Amino acid sequence: MVSSDSFQPVSIRKCPTYGADDVSAAIMSALSDIGCDVSLSKGKKVCIKPNLLMKSDPEKAVTTHPSVVRETARIFCEAGAFVTIAESGGGSYTPESMRNSYKACGVTQALSGLDAVLNEDPSTETLSFDGVSSKLFEVLKPLADADIIVDLCKLKTHGLTGMTCAVKNMFGAVPGVKKFETHARYGRDAAAFMNYAVDICRLLESTHEFLAICDAVECMEGNGPSGGTPKHVGAILASRSPYMLDEAAADISGLSSCALMLPLTEKRGLSKKPDGAYLRGDDISGFRTQFRRADSAVGFALTNIPGFMKPRPHVDPSICRGCGECASNCPEKTITMVKKSGRTTAKIKLGRCIRCYCCQELCRFKAVEVKRIPVAELANRIGFMR
Ligand code: SF4
Ligand code: SF4
Repeated sequence: MVSSDSFQPVSIRKCPTYGADDVSAAIMSALSDIGCDVSLSKGKKVCIKPNLLMKSDPEKAVTTHPSVVRETARIFCEAGAFVTIAESGGGSYTPESMRNSYKACGVTQALSGLDAVLNEDPSTETLSFDGVSSKLFEVLKPLADADIIVDLCKLKTHGLTGMTCAVKNMFGAVPGVKKFETHARYGRDAAAFMNYAVDICRLLESTHEFLAICDAVECMEGNGPSGGTPKHVGAILASRSPYMLDEAAADISGLSSCALMLPLTEKRGLSKKPDGAYLRGDDISGFRTQFRRADSAVGFALTNIPGFMKPRPHVDPSICRGCGECASNCPEKTITMVKKSGRTTAKIKLGRCIRCYCCQELCRFKAVEVKRIPVAELANRIGFMR
């Protein structure tokens, strides 16, 4: 097993485009920078876990770009590893939903000609781990069965957790609707929810060889993880530590003050802001920028304010197409479909809403907006987010 020392180095490499040559060169350089010898994966089971949150055109920057999935898979296939791609995005976790998701995200097409398997088996495995949030964790079977896990994440803003990157991506190891049950379990306590994602990472990286590779070529700012806008950074990051990779990602995106995982992993001794001693590859200062935060990101210091003070989700009936995706995935079942003048639209009853923002995350039509409340507005303005 490769050590998952929390202070593992992070490499950042320029990757100006999604062209195969750019992506391949950046990944190979980043892996070399962190001392990862891919040839050692020969004969091993490698499970690549991209971020395929929803069926989305790759150009919208919602999902890990298919070119990054392909080049990562190709590198391990050519090294002689047995490569599987596995992911459970939002919604159900069935062979059909997986197939549809791979296709819509361009992954099926990208893997053509490669000897890599797209997982369509909805089996899961329940693993024991002495976590902070729980002791039992149900995860996708291909991840549990792998020798090496590649956390192939995407750098984006996130309504609930401020930022999604390597740590949050592994929450996708939880199958389908179980994710929404987890949201319901932790209710309005966003930090407790985030600790669950950290625990999943701890479980998987302490029992497997673990590698995090981040698609930070075209990222997302604003109302991520699905309703924001693309933001060019032009980088690939890699680390054996998802926690350290998130620290570097927050540094380059200017999201350090609202990324909920950072204070939690720092407190647990898993990460620290990477200075020169932990950085490899190209100079980080060349990538630093400021992402627009999600409207609902309130930062760590405000995670425990009463629910009624937190930013409120609201469905814009003029945009809503009545698809029902938000209602069927709301952990509190507080969204109803209402028929009026021949049109069906979603309506949120705020009383029971736990402010998880899954409805906003899963709405492909950007019909769910989050209304900031004055305290979050002020926090955002003065940068008091942590
Ligand atoms: S708000 Fe979005 S997800 Fe919900 S029903 Fe309307 S279009 Fe569908
Ligand atoms: S209405 Fe939206 S934010 Fe509220 S609990 Fe349901 S999914 Fe979460």
